[in-house]
Formats: sequence, C-alpha cells, structure tokens
Amino acid sequence: MLTFWAEHAVLPAGPADSVAIEVADGRIASVKPGSRPRGDVLAGVTLPGFANAHSHAFHRALRGRTHAGPGTFWTWREGMYALSERLDPDSYFRLARAVYAEMALAGITAVGEFHYLHHSPGGRPYSDPNAMGEALIQAAADAGIRITLLDTLYLAGGFGLPLEPAQRRFGDGSLEAWLDRVDKLSPPDHAVIGGAVHSVRAVPEEAITAFACSTEGRPVHVHLSEQRSENASCRLEHGCSPAELLERCGLLGPDLTAVHATHLAGHDIDLLRRSGTTACFCPTTERDLADGLGPARALAEAGVRLSLGTDSNAIVDMFEEARAVEMHERLVSEERGRFTAAELLDAMTAHASLGWADAGRIEVGARADLVTVGLDSPRTAGIDPSGVVYAATAADITDVVADGRRIVADGRHLRIDAGAELAAEIKGLWA
Ligand SMILES: [Zn+2]
Repeated sequence: MLTFWAEHAVLPAGPADSVAIEVADGRIASVKPGSRPRGDVLAGVTLPGFANAHSHAFHRALRGRTHAGPGTFWTWREGMYALSERLDPDSYFRLARAVYAEMALAGITAVGEFHYLHHSPGGRPYSDPNAMGEALIQAAADAGIRITLLDTLYLAGGFGLPLEPAQRRFGDGSLEAWLDRVDKLSPPDHAVIGGAVHSVRAVPEEAITAFACSTEGRPVHVHLSEQRSENASCRLEHGCSPAELLERCGLLGPDLTAVHATHLAGHDIDLLRRSGTTACFCPTTERDLADGLGPARALAEAGVRLSLGTDSNAIVDMFEEARAVEMHERLVSEERGRFTAAELLDAMTAHASLGWADAGRIEVGARADLVTVGLDSPRTAGIDPSGVVYAATAADITDVVADGRRIVADGRHLRIDAGAELAAEIKGLWA
C-alpha cells in the first residue's frame, strides 16, 4: 500500500484540503480529506490524470516549422505528408517515446492515438504488418502512460478518389484487410485497441456501415466536419451532412467520439445528443489550422459529453485546451463563465471515451492517476487552488502518478529526458 498526501485536491464532490490517498495495485483504496501529512507529499493542488483524447504523435515534429505564412489546413497537410514519408518503425518508436514523455510531463496519463501511418512508404506492409502500431504501444509503456490505439481505416483519397501517393502507406485496401491486421494486435495491460474511420472523405459509405458492425464494443473515433469543404463535398456526394451520413451508417453511439465537430448544423447536434456520441475538441490545433470554431457550449447544453485532444501536438498542454474552449466561447458570445471549472476538468479527464471508464476521478476504486500542480511558480503563486484551470500551464506540473506509479517528480520525467530526445529525433527527421 502506497500513501500520497495532497495539500489540496479536486475530488468528485469538489476541492478539498489535506487529502490522504491510499493506493493498492494501481487503484485508489481510500481518500481521506483533513488528514495529517504522511507518505509521499504532493505540495500544491492535485487533480485526476488527464486524458488526451486525440493525438497524432508524429505531427509533433512539425511544431515551430509550419505555423508561419499563408495557406489553410490543406496546404499544411502537404508538409505533414512530407514528414510522414520519413518515418519507419524504429524512428517512429523513438519519436513517439519522447512525445509521450512530453505528454506525461503535461499530466496526461492516457492518450488516444489516432493511428494511420501503417505501412512502408508506397504502401507495402512491413514484415510485421503492425510494426508501427506496436512501436506506439511500446513508446507509451516507456513513458509510463496508457494508450488507446485508434487504428484507423483509410481507404480513399477523397470522395470517390483513389489514395494519393503520399496516402498509400495509410491504407489497407479494404475493410477486411484492415480487420485482419487489427485482429493480430494483442494489447498489453496499458493498451486498448480501438478503431477509427479517418473521415467521411477517406472511407466510402458501405465500408463505414460494415466497420460499425465489426467494431461494436470498442472505442471508435472519427474526424467529423473539421472543414467546410468536407461538408460541401459530403452533401454533393451523399445528399446529407457528415453526421447524418454516420447516422445512416450506424456509426453514431456511446462508443463513438466525433473529433472536431467544428462545422455542425443544428440537426447534427441533435444526432450526437440522441446517440450518446462524445465530441472531442482540439482548440489549439483547430485555431492553428484556421479550421473554424465549433459549437462547444451548444453541444454541452444539449447534453453531449466533451473531451479534449492535442491533435497535431503543436502545443501539449491540456490546461490550454480547456481554457481555449471557454475563452473562445466568451469571444463569440460576449459573455463570461460559459463553462464551469468543473465542466472543463471533466473534459480534461474524459478517459471513458478511450475505453478507460475506471479513470479520471480521485475516488475509491478508480485508477490511481494523480497530477499535481505547484502553487509556487510565477504563474500559479497566489492563486486560489480552485482557479487552477484558469492559471496553470503544463510547465507548472511537478508530479504525475499513473496507475499508481510515479512517472514525473519535481517536473522531471523519471526515465526519459524528453527535451533532449525530442531535439535529437526531430533534427534527424529533417536532416
Ligand atoms: Zn486529427
């Protein structure tokens, strides 16, 4: 039995002080506010571990190289494709290990990796057809975090179009071949194998329908209405919105997370609500790519669960993602307090959409994922602990425990020098 003692902690009932948290076999065995200090002292405010519901680990290598200059999502995508050509299972393992260490330092204890970089450039499978996915699973193990591998079905280069040359390594050719490959993955304890439809533009309608039948019970994700042009082409091709198409295919439901959900029509929000679909916002990426602003408050008012993702990993800071949801709403509504701090924390800790329903709360029986924010940094000094989501950054996180194991202490990852490894790997990729 391990004991952690949190100076302040955010519990399901709200903020509490002097909280003793006992942990056995990676789970929380007891939570006692008003306790005297003992065990491993966590100075500052302790939150449940964060769930990064949408990541493409390799996009981290684009950070600081793609943000200047004109263009749109579509011009950015050219740079992303050029980078993807350079990765193989060994280099992807080393890069992802450093990226996941950066996530661990940012308090992320589970990542949803939307994984489509399957095969060798040109599309030939590696001798182990899951070598790239297994590299990601091993990278998460090294970083000490859980991973939900959202292995992605990617069949077309656009509505009715073949894959472009740069996209060939993303594709398995058919749903059957995708299923055959994904079935060969056997997840270790820290991993869940989920599925993803890349988008309505990359998977034909019949394949989405068959995919929905084949993946029942697994966490499933899809990019939804990130771009206006996707909506327009979908309407031209199918006579409906992307959300309506997913409904027709039977993909909407409690196991599904719709990533972005930026350009929704009124009826689409109702479809997500009625089906119990989660919406994952990735505000720092969406604004970097000039995607547009999704209806976060309207979705929440309708009762749609929200999760958050760092997506392109141009920024890895869940506080910034959560704050952006609130602050962007303030700008469009000209009103403050659109989301409560508790609602923002719920979105930051939405582990259920990644298949980890027993994580994201500091309560008895839950996975022991703890993130401590120091209250003595220049940014956090003097704040009320209940206002941490409005003030803190990832850099203020001092301690992280995942599944009862400490992975970050005093702001340092215990196994990986994330800065040094990121610098070395990214330099190598662009050399
Ligand atoms: Zn994405």
